[in-house]
Amino acid sequence: MDQTYLNFINGEWIAGGADQWDDNRNPARPSEIIGRSTRSSAIDIDKAIIAAQRAQHEWARKPRPARGAIIDAAAKILRGKVDAVAEALTREEGKNLNEARGEVLKAVNVLEFTASEGRRPTGDVIPSEMPNTFIYTTRAPLGVVGIITPWNFPVCIPAWKIGPALLEGNTIVFKPASLTPATAALLVKCFEEAGLPKGVLNLVYGSGSTIGNLIVGDARIKAISFTGSNEVGMDLNAKAAKRLARTQLEMGGKNPVIVLADADLDQAVEATVMGAFGSTGQRCTATSRVIIERPLHKAFVEKLVVRARAIKVGDGLKDTSVMGPVVDEKQFNSVLAGIETAKKEGAKLLCGGERVGAPGPDAGYFIAPTVFDDVKPAMRIAREEVFGPVLAIVPVDGFEEAFKVANDVEYGLSSSVYTKDIQRIMQYAERIETGMLHVNSPTVGGEAQAPFGGVKATGLGGREMGSTGPEFFCEIKTVYIDYNSTVRKGNLY
Ligand code: NAP
Repeated sequence: MDQTYLNFINGEWIAGGADQWDDNRNPARPSEIIGRSTRSSAIDIDKAIIAAQRAQHEWARKPRPARGAIIDAAAKILRGKVDAVAEALTREEGKNLNEARGEVLKAVNVLEFTASEGRRPTGDVIPSEMPNTFIYTTRAPLGVVGIITPWNFPVCIPAWKIGPALLEGNTIVFKPASLTPATAALLVKCFEEAGLPKGVLNLVYGSGSTIGNLIVGDARIKAISFTGSNEVGMDLNAKAAKRLARTQLEMGGKNPVIVLADADLDQAVEATVMGAFGSTGQRCTATSRVIIERPLHKAFVEKLVVRARAIKVGDGLKDTSVMGPVVDEKQFNSVLAGIETAKKEGAKLLCGGERVGAPGPDAGYFIAPTVFDDVKPAMRIAREEVFGPVLAIVPVDGFEEAFKVANDVEYGLSSSVYTKDIQRIMQYAERIETGMLHVNSPTVGGEAQAPFGGVKATGLGGREMGSTGPEFFCEIKTVYIDYNSTVRKGNLY
């Protein structure tokens, strides 16, 4: 062990008052302790909120392009550390180095894009019904905001929340996932090195149930941007609503790929492999269902299983590994439990379904790419998020049934359709209940300049990323200026 991760409060790296530490373990070799993170106390959270409150006025007074310039400087610093941050990410979260590099570069893109938004218009000029009256809108920050993030994209997701929150003139109390403390510290250091004033961005470690809860319950925190599970997000939302705090929630997914009979088979198979097993299936946009028209079913399944079996599973730091471990023992057991449930419900296991490598105290949390066929839409494997390398194939009779099955889940994050038929493509775009949809491309991914987020039980509170990203973090003010030289008479409406 060579690292300790300290809180960053009011510009200083300090140990939490709880005098307790949490081990940061490598999921590929759980006995390897990479470092330990400090555990915060209620007093630390109070200090972080006070620091953020004190810093907020000055930060908001800085011209918007100047705030953007600091975000841009942080992006450049992060770009210079891509390899180091990617390695820390692989070590603590498990995804392979290529995927980790991709995530860090995406965070750079997001910060660069957010910085560039600092030079774009922020309001509208609106025509007035009254003479000599000028109406315009402008933006105001919310104040101190809380940012609570998951372990599966521990660089990118914080970056796409922190950047827009800062751009709008807010100050931040940031609580990362307990499983990924190293990358949180590395990201915050980029902002420190970029010259962000003291107190503007504060990092606090500790468990969600204690520290996260304190952030959610504190009246000084005006808004909370959360990404994580539905269970936590819905509870957080209910608590925040009681004190009228604004919330933004990005939660689970059960993302389908619809493969129609005229699809390009190879293209659909490759996209499914990438979507289902990339990042070990631990992406909110991961493909977890294939809804396929029967004429293509047999050929698709044969090709898919060959591809899934060929995936090399292993330590993400090794060049040979295509798929890394799941993040920890709890997630490992949860994925295996999901597999057992699918078997009991009668889904047909085609490949995987078990751990890779012998069990033992230092055995990594590796699970073989798993494919279930003949899945019925009512089965839990077709409805619930597993969040691991597990795919359910649901054969259907036709386009209408494909839609019905695709939309018949509580989630609505991402989806794909594979077809060459323009009419069906347009109908798909109109009727699919997901916030992001792909035509002849995988369910995963999203570009920095495009809005990201889900509908139904997946998301609430507006889209992240793109030029919509900052909207959550500001109030709109409408300004009426009366430049009449005479006293105005008549009715006011
Ligand atoms: P999680 O268990 O809900 O945790 C998310 C964050 O919330 C962590 O920082 C966690 O802290 C904190 N937390 C836990 N309990 C809390 C409480 N009572 N009050 C306040 N904060 C609390 O989710 P996860 O397991 O990290 O992430 C996986 C989930 O995230 C999946 O469901 C996935 O689909 C979803 N996700 C969604 C998107 C999207 O954009 N839609 C993107 C990525 C991931 P601790 O780590 O200390 O528990």
